[in-house]
Amino acid sequence: MTTNTGDSAGGGPRTVTADIVVVGAGTSGCYAAATVADAGYDAVVVERKDETEAGHIACGDALKGASDFPEAIPKSRLEPAFTNTGVDHGRFEIPQEDTVLEIPVPGELAVIDRWEYGRCLIEGANDSGATFHYDTVVQDVLQDETGRVTGVKAMRKGDPVTYEADIVIDGAGALSILQDKTDLEDATFDTNVQYSQFCSAYREIIEVDEPVEWDDALVFKPTERSAGYLWYFPRTDTEINAGLGFQMNEEPMELVDDLKRDLEDRSEFEGATVKDKLGAALPTRRPYDSAVAPGFMAVGDAAGHVNPTTGGGIAGAAYAGKYAAEQAIEAIESGRTDDEAALWEYNERVMDHFGARYAALDVYNIFTTAYDVDDLMALLASLPGEKLAEALYGGSTSIGLGLKIKTAIKSFGHWGTIYDLYQTKSLADRLLAHYEDYPADPSGFEAWQRERNDIMDDIYELTGADPKY
Ligand SMILES: Cc1cc2nc3c(=O)[nH]c(=O)nc-3n(C[C@H](O)[C@H](O)[C@H](O)COP(=O)(O)OP(=O)(O)OC[C@H]3O[C@@H](n4cnc5c(N)ncnc54)[C@H](O)[C@@H]3O)c2cc1C
Repeated sequence: MTTNTGDSAGGGPRTVTADIVVVGAGTSGCYAAATVADAGYDAVVVERKDETEAGHIACGDALKGASDFPEAIPKSRLEPAFTNTGVDHGRFEIPQEDTVLEIPVPGELAVIDRWEYGRCLIEGANDSGATFHYDTVVQDVLQDETGRVTGVKAMRKGDPVTYEADIVIDGAGALSILQDKTDLEDATFDTNVQYSQFCSAYREIIEVDEPVEWDDALVFKPTERSAGYLWYFPRTDTEINAGLGFQMNEEPMELVDDLKRDLEDRSEFEGATVKDKLGAALPTRRPYDSAVAPGFMAVGDAAGHVNPTTGGGIAGAAYAGKYAAEQAIEAIESGRTDDEAALWEYNERVMDHFGARYAALDVYNIFTTAYDVDDLMALLASLPGEKLAEALYGGSTSIGLGLKIKTAIKSFGHWGTIYDLYQTKSLADRLLAHYEDYPADPSGFEAWQRERNDIMDDIYELTGADPKY
């Protein structure tokens, strides 16, 4: 049971005790909390935003794998936020080549109203029995003399509140403050995290009078540099989520102005009204090698659980929340919350479900940072759409002989890049196979990391890209 003790100057509780404290009421936090509460344990979610703003999160609003959510908050609870289920492909605009590629996207797609979706998530976790503490900003992490995380310190409307728990789950999103405040030196937890592995992104919700023609497509367009893209995702045929982002190892873009310029160039946005504006950072990197430490787990953006080529992080966050909570419960039941080995299976499940694939996809991100944008766009325009889709979402693809010949003819002039891409693909496949061999316990972790780093060295050498990690 959650217990509150003491009174602060403002009359609120000073110490809150729960089985599991979850920081952040986003997708990962809500799924973690709902899973904990469903199992009969108490979960307190600490959220810095107030009750109205909670769930209002910067997002492109595109949901890939829209049919697939963990049971703790089933799809049926989220469906009221699905504003466009008619999207079925990507539309890739390549101005440099005067080309538009229509690319099929495997799996179910939807565009959502992210704020409404956020409210549905919170309602779902709340109905499972999780408790939400809004307006509460976590500022520090408590660790005992062995280094085990025992809770967090927060401020609630000017009053300090201490949260104590068997396990703290960090669902506080990209560049989470909790990891800055925790001494993780003796843990396996991944601390090789730098700004350059993130993308800075911004989006506006725009209303137009006339329906757009492409309301069945997710529209992508490269920014002037290869490491970024603009998107136009139709929430409805008259309400569009328009945004853009760039990799933070590049010269910063003027996100607001660059978006404005592109909007002004498109006739379909003439006379449009901007309804909402938000920006944030998102990880475009491989998932954390390990997201556990004694008493501590990270989920979703706080652990790099985002497809690094598309920026899609909702699905990974939902499943990471579920897997972390299930493992935390197991650790509590076996009395081993101070032992990171008891939490290890969470890492394995993440790698097995999507982490290995995302790590392989990151190789293509590394590849693109080292090549000229015009060359890459010309190459892209020459590739078959289905194969591109496979590569974008699967982390690997193969091309039959007939297509190879057709592609070769169309891509004449870019064969050097194609050859490098082909070799990069072989290394991405090698990396994928290595991640599929993720160790079953922490004892094999160092050797696994060493071999992975060797593969990464080969990737940097081949592409000529600056080391990312
Ligand atoms: C501009 C943009 C566009 C995107 N587009 C898409 C898309 O189209 N499709 C897709 O699938 N993904 C997209 N993503 C990624 C996706 O939004 C994230 O991967 C996903 O939201 C991660 O969920 P999360 O629960 O891990 O973190 P978040 O959703 O970021 O939730 C973190 C929560 O923690 C709270 N918090 C943070 N710090 C503290 C603190 N100190 N104390 C208390 N609370 C705290 C925050 O207020 C927030 O509520 C996009 C991201 C950005 C930035």
